[in-house]
Amino acid sequence: MEFTLPELPYAYDALEPHYDTKTLEIHHTKHHAGYVKGLNNAIAKLAEARDTSNYSLIKHWERELSFHGAGHKLHSLFWQNMRPGKEDNKPSEELLAKITKWFGSFEKFTEQFIAATASIEGSGWGALVHCRQSDALTVLQVENHQKLLLPGLNPILVCDVWEHAYYLKYQNRRKEWVQNFMKLINWDEVERRCNE
Ligand code: FE
Repeated sequence: MEFTLPELPYAYDALEPHYDTKTLEIHHTKHHAGYVKGLNNAIAKLAEARDTSNYSLIKHWERELSFHGAGHKLHSLFWQNMRPGKEDNKPSEELLAKITKWFGSFEKFTEQFIAATASIEGSGWGALVHCRQSDALTVLQVENHQKLLLPGLNPILVCDVWEHAYYLKYQNRRKEWVQNFMKLINWDEVERRCNE
């Protein structure tokens, strides 16, 4: 089975001015495509290892599978959880009530999400995650694509803070990127995933 690069649900210039056309296009066609390629390659190498019963590089290919697989999943979610920008961008009542329950208020959630995401060490993602078992929401810092995620907690909203995600427009102003990302959140999609 081969994974393929999903199409974006909007045009490359649809998220201007907060997310510039050039960054979005390179991010999708080069970076995300690279993770899809890396994922397919890791799957093929693991199949080869099974065919030959040669597992001498198993740790390497398992790591590659996790890294590129998580990269592919998170980028696919990231594209879906954005839409053209809105000032005063907020979730609808049901999700707003859940956010208020777990964070105190929407404003406190926003503060925590921005602080956590802007301060990730190196490359990573800010993630709002949902626990299906307890219906809890929390914010996690994800390093690279796969570190610091907790089993059973599903990302329902993610913000990419690898430099490739924002550097052309924002350079070292990562926090400004995250602040503007909040205007691009497709809260309908986040709510849909929360109720899945
Ligand atoms: Fe990225």
